[in-house]
Amino acid sequence: MDGDHDDPGDDLERLADRIRGAETVVALTGAGVSAPSGVPTFRGDEGVWDRFDEGQFTHDRFRRDPAGFWLDRLELQRAMYGDTYEPNAAHEALVALGRRGYLEAIVTQNTDGLHLEAARSVGDVGDGEGADVLELHGNAHRAVCTACGDRTDAESAFERAAAGDVPPRCECGGVYKPDVVLFGERLPAAVLRRARTLAEESNVLLAVGSSLVVEPAASLPRLAARTGGTVGIVNLEATPVDATADAVLRADATDALPRLLAAVDGGG
Ligand code: NAD
Repeated sequence: MDGDHDDPGDDLERLADRIRGAETVVALTGAGVSAPSGVPTFRGDEGVWDRFDEGQFTHDRFRRDPAGFWLDRLELQRAMYGDTYEPNAAHEALVALGRRGYLEAIVTQNTDGLHLEAARSVGDVGDGEGADVLELHGNAHRAVCTACGDRTDAESAFERAAAGDVPPRCECGGVYKPDVVLFGERLPAAVLRRARTLAEESNVLLAVGSSLVVEPAASLPRLAARTGGTVGIVNLEATPVDATADAVLRADATDALPRLLAAVDGGG
C-alpha cells in the first residue's frame, strides 16, 4: 500500500476489508484505549508524569526502598485508578470482534484490567470463544510475592500500605510487588514471546491508542509488516509508525472501533 491516507473513510473501509479476509487479526492497545474511561495516560495532556516523578517507580527503587516505593505507589494508584471506571465502547468493540471470530488476541500495554473486564462482562474469559487477552505489562489490580510468587488482590496490599504496614508482606515473609512490569524490569518472557509470534503471524495488526514509542509495542507493528501483515493505526495523534502503516484512523478509539466493527459487519 502507498502510505497515502488522504481519505480516512478509505482507510476504514480498506482495514475492514482486510480484517474480513484475514486469518489472524491481532490488536495492540495502549493507554489511549482506556483514557475515555477516565484512566489517565502517562504522557500528554494531564498525563500522570506531570504530577509524579517517573524515577520513583523503577524496579531499582522498589528493591532499594520497598516501603517508600509502596507509599508512593499508593498515591499513584489512587490518581490512576481511584475513581470507578468501566470498559468503554472501544473495549466492547474489540470484544465483539473477538466473539465474531475476527480477532485472535488483544495484546495490551495497559495494566488497568479493562480488556479482561469487558470480556468478562459478556461471559467471555477462558471459554476459548473470544479474543485472548495478553497483558504485556501485568495488571495493577494484583500484587505478586517476590519470594514465593503468590498472587493476590492488590487492594488488600494497598489497604495495608495505607495503614502504614509497608512493605506489605506475604504469609511466607516475602515482600509483595504490584504485579506490573516496573521501569527497568524485564517483561515476562513467555508473554513477550507469544506477543511477537502473534505479530509475526498476523495478517492484520491493529494498534489502538498506543504512542508506539515504548518497547516492545513499538516493534510489534514492524514485525507484522515484515511478514506481509497489514498495519492499521487508531490514534488521536500521529505515531512514528503512521508513515509506513497501511491505514491510519486519526480518531478517538471509542468512535473509530465501533465504526470499524460496523464496517466489518456490513461488508462482504
Ligand atoms: P502513552 O500514554 O505513551 O500514549 C497514549 C496514546 O494514546 C497517545 O499516543 C495518545 O495520542 C493516544 N490517545 C489518547 N486518547 C486517545 C483516544 N481517546 N483514542 C485514541 N488514542 C488516544 O501510552 P502507551 O504508549 O500506551 O504506553 C505507555 C506505558 O504506559 C505503557 O507501558 C502502559 O503500561 C502504561 N500505562 C498504562 C495505563 C493503563 O493501564 N490504562 C495508563 C497509563 C500508562
